[in-house]
Amino acid sequence: MTSIGDKPLRVDDLLQRNVWDVDHRPHITVDTEKCRLCEAKPCITTCPAGCYILAGNKVVFSYEGCLECGACRLICPYNAVKWSYPLSGKGVQYRFS
Ligand code: SF4
Repeated sequence: MTSIGDKPLRVDDLLQRNVWDVDHRPHITVDTEKCRLCEAKPCITTCPAGCYILAGNKVVFSYEGCLECGACRLICPYNAVKWSYPLSGKGVQYRFS
């Protein structure tokens, strides 16, 4: 387990170590018209980065903090997520220490 001294690190602590070189071109786009049809909206609870939030009853998406896990593309029951990797060298850069 990773720790600082005798205090174990939480996942949130580890994620805060990452850095992003954000691609100006969104690597994920969401068809929010399809989101209107979706009652469960599993993207909101699945995304580990909190890129999907609910504003009223509307899904709002931002790609800048994406961890590139691909879960949102797989979990969407309406195939509303168009997903690709950011340009080479862009996106999340994981820091493990
Ligand atoms: S790829 Fe993963 S981190 Fe990025 S928006 Fe989708 S679920 Fe969130």
